[in-house]
Amino acid sequence: MVNKVDKIVLDTLKERLKEIFGYSQFRGDQEVIIQNILLGKNTFVIMPTGAGKSLCYQLPALVSDGMAIVISPLIALMKNQVDQLTAFGINAQFLNSTLSKSEMNRVKTDALNGSLKLLYIAPESLTKEDNLDFLKKTKISFVAIDEAHCISEWGHDFRPEYRRIYGIIENIGKLPIIALTATATPKVQQDIRKNLQMEEAETFKSSFNRKNLYYEIRPKKDVKKQLIRYVRNNKGKSGIIYCLSRKTVEEVAELLKVNDVRARPYHAGLDSNTRMANQDAFLNEDCEVIVATIAFGMGIDKPDVRFVIHYDVPKSLEGYYQETGRAGRDGLEGNCLMFYSYDDILKLEKFNKDKTVTERDNARHLLNEMVAYSTLGVCRRRQLLSYFGEYFENDCGFCDNCLKSTEKTKIQQEAMLVLKAVEKTEQRFDGEHLADLLTGKENQYIRSYEHDKLDVFGKGSELQDSREFWVSAIRQLVIFNYLEKDIENYGVIRLSDKGKKYLSDPYPITIQKDHDFEHEEIKTDEEEKEGANGSAHAYDEALLGLLKALRKKVAKEKNLPPFVIFQDPSMEEMATTYPTTQQEMAQINGVGMGKVQKFGKQFIELIKNYVEENEIETAQDVVIKSTVNKSKIKIYIIQQVDRKVSLDEIADAKDLALADVIEEIEHICYSGTKLNLDYYINQVIDKDRQHDIFDYFMTAESDNIAAAADEFSDEEVSEEELRLMRIKFLSELGN
Ligand code: ADP
Ligand code: MG
Ligand code: ZN
Repeated sequence: MVNKVDKIVLDTLKERLKEIFGYSQFRGDQEVIIQNILLGKNTFVIMPTGAGKSLCYQLPALVSDGMAIVISPLIALMKNQVDQLTAFGINAQFLNSTLSKSEMNRVKTDALNGSLKLLYIAPESLTKEDNLDFLKKTKISFVAIDEAHCISEWGHDFRPEYRRIYGIIENIGKLPIIALTATATPKVQQDIRKNLQMEEAETFKSSFNRKNLYYEIRPKKDVKKQLIRYVRNNKGKSGIIYCLSRKTVEEVAELLKVNDVRARPYHAGLDSNTRMANQDAFLNEDCEVIVATIAFGMGIDKPDVRFVIHYDVPKSLEGYYQETGRAGRDGLEGNCLMFYSYDDILKLEKFNKDKTVTERDNARHLLNEMVAYSTLGVCRRRQLLSYFGEYFENDCGFCDNCLKSTEKTKIQQEAMLVLKAVEKTEQRFDGEHLADLLTGKENQYIRSYEHDKLDVFGKGSELQDSREFWVSAIRQLVIFNYLEKDIENYGVIRLSDKGKKYLSDPYPITIQKDHDFEHEEIKTDEEEKEGANGSAHAYDEALLGLLKALRKKVAKEKNLPPFVIFQDPSMEEMATTYPTTQQEMAQINGVGMGKVQKFGKQFIELIKNYVEENEIETAQDVVIKSTVNKSKIKIYIIQQVDRKVSLDEIADAKDLALADVIEEIEHICYSGTKLNLDYYINQVIDKDRQHDIFDYFMTAESDNIAAAADEFSDEEVSEEELRLMRIKFLSELGN
């Protein structure tokens, strides 16, 4: 038990992070979480997939005396993590039924002599009498319970053994617990606390926004053709395609295979050897695409999945979010594409017909949310976060709805009417009922509540006669936070504070038309190629190719998945900064000293040769060695812009003013690197204004900003807007 932690330990966590894991910054709350557990307090961590939960127990385990126990539901998951830790040079091992007697003994010896830092155990093994006796003899720093939602029957992966964990821990001794989950629902969170008797535990919940994920929904027409185009355009990248039935899985996998895609199927109907082999092939990059039912996914910590496709509409947004969450865990590209058709919804409804009434109601409710998410024209990210109880103020600028908007209209009278209707009906009804009320539908519910006697009854039809309009408007008012969902009663809508203020001080609100997928065209081949993520890269593609090939070779020799050797973000950085010494290699994010010693040599050798052969003046020669920070910032900006991170966020992350970031970008562009800022510019400067400024630069004598400011002096155009447009202008025409 860690009751006395050195202040020095707490203060030097960041150095340890760099030294061991090679990361220069903690992400989000990682550092405070680690401090909390080091102080011996129970800790509850709720973070979305890919946010970096593992580090929250791995690092404190390394700086504590004794070993930490990590409880994890799947053997594959444990093996994966142990491999990764070993690659960092850390003594981590697992205890489960797959070990031979002698392997088991080695683990136990290491645990008893204190050299083992992390011991992974499945809950089944934890309950075994022998193991328990053994654990009592060891020195344990704390217990981490990963995927803690397995405790709850309300979660998506309930495991009865998880419910017994607490009793066993208590039996071993009084140990601090850190529980971690990516499940957003309050009900599950409550179950976890109760079951682990840690109601008092400090909770660290981070936003569920996954900034690097691109959400897109397309009409499910000519779906096979669309799919093949999409996968071809993403050649060489890892992807998961989810289908609803085993039969479709087999069909789609076959279809891809005949089209020269290295794809494999995965579903519960395959025998377990085939299933394991296919999963391994995916992890080891022997196959690029896995076509699967939802049986596939949990326990796959593969960080470089570049796309997740829902070939069929999923049953719930919870499932959809979980599955799309498997894309881009490493923070790089992650595309989430879903094919939508109402036929799929009808099919799913049919599956529910044998369920009990309550189950059927629930399932229908979940499906309705799915339909709404798919068809609404509002920013997908705002919708998703709103569904999970987070309010997101602006459009994200990085989803299909943001990049290609449906028709927009402004409403004010309509919005007032909706809010009044909510008020007049005492905030006790759902959107469907309110839409009936506003359009004057005299059904039995309306009559039984005497809502046909209210003055708002039928008032909506005078403004807009389609009921769909009102359903959609009400949903959008929820997403924009004028209305809020009642947490206790499913579907019930109430006025938010913002909505109450609006009633006395209304103004026009922009809403968007719903999609009409029946009539939407599918993307052409060219449009597909342009794609949302077709931006130029900052790294040396040829070198990256060589590095990846080497990584694959090394991985094969060591019988490890390639991402265990180095992850993609590290490789991209290598292909940008050309490290040719051990010290330089250790500077790369995600490369600690352990990895430099284990794998560095061959990679450094490769880069050295490449640099010599191609007579490249490496970044180190030119910039980094003289002004370390400056060029690092540039590289950082280039990478972030590539990932379409907003400039404000880049500024925040690096503690710079927006103007400084723009200045750096100007330098980058003047030195000949193209940067595509459209994603950001479209978000902050309206189209007409962009047009005007662009035209100005076309005809202007110089690109001088003061002169431009003069020209636009009567229009309140800011200097930043002008500079952003100048960058766009120069990048499109100059470079
Ligand atoms: P989770 O368990 O929350 O889904 P993981 O622990 O698997 O997420 O981490 C996801 C990815 O984030 C991994 O590729 C990991 O290497 C990376 N990561 C974690 N912490 C950091 C950090 N501080 N800086 C950079 N990358 C990090
Ligand atoms: Mg995890
Ligand atoms: Zn968006």
